[in-house]
Amino acid sequence: MAFKRMMDLHVHTDNSFDGHHSAMFLCEQAVHKGFRAIAFTDHMDIDLYEQQNLEARQIQSFFEVSKARSAFQGKLLVLNGIELGQGTFDMPLSEKSIQKFDYDFVIGSMHELRDSTDYSQLKYDEYTMDELNELLEQYSKELYQLALWGHFDTMAHITYPLRYLCGAYKIPYDFSRFDDIIDEVFKTLIYKGKALEINTSGLRQNLNETMPGERYVRRFRELGGEFVTIGSDAHFAADVGAGIQQGLELAQRCGYRYTTFFQKREPMPVPIEK
Ligand SMILES: [Zn+2]
Ligand SMILES: [Zn+2]
Repeated sequence: MAFKRMMDLHVHTDNSFDGHHSAMFLCEQAVHKGFRAIAFTDHMDIDLYEQQNLEARQIQSFFEVSKARSAFQGKLLVLNGIELGQGTFDMPLSEKSIQKFDYDFVIGSMHELRDSTDYSQLKYDEYTMDELNELLEQYSKELYQLALWGHFDTMAHITYPLRYLCGAYKIPYDFSRFDDIIDEVFKTLIYKGKALEINTSGLRQNLNETMPGERYVRRFRELGGEFVTIGSDAHFAADVGAGIQQGLELAQRCGYRYTTFFQKREPMPVPIEK
């Protein structure tokens, strides 16, 4: 039986470099699939903001999502958000850019290394185990810096490099060696009232699990975490809502009684009910 009040809180429109469909069409798909809320979170990787003139895309995204919100009023709650990548790489610019509009929701992500290489682009089979350990330690420490900075509402897809390392390259890797750092990330998020994202895109990719996986979702709850947001990270209309049902089951299994969406940057809990 389906859950009541399904929400997909991580969706990209064609105003993201890798998105393929308009906000209006994605809303139509969400309604068709029985969803009650959708959050559009187009990419804003801050280290590329000036180089790629992301400001123009940001403005276009905000206005197109606003238009979709009006068009779907009463049928679908449309939340206007942004996926801020690498916020800590340029904190003043990040703070200025997210204040440009009255956003509902800011996702905090880490996609790249300091020298600007996306984790998706690395040739993992050319790394020694020591180098992989170094890389993932650096990733974990960047997440901690991001949590300390804290100018976002939910921390996105923790374990993102594993999507490529374990998913695409099929290299088994035990990320638990960084549990102590991830615990500090979680404690910081909890102290600051931030949410953890359950990103369901890994379920439809080779990784075959959510990002992060169950043990982390459970650990966040054990440490006192209350807020989880669930998003498909869809880049195509067909993927809107994908894995949300499994995400809700996972949250419930890990002891959460509600999931959360953000409106005007305020957490709004929604009970998990069938
Ligand atoms: Zn992302
Ligand atoms: Zn995304």
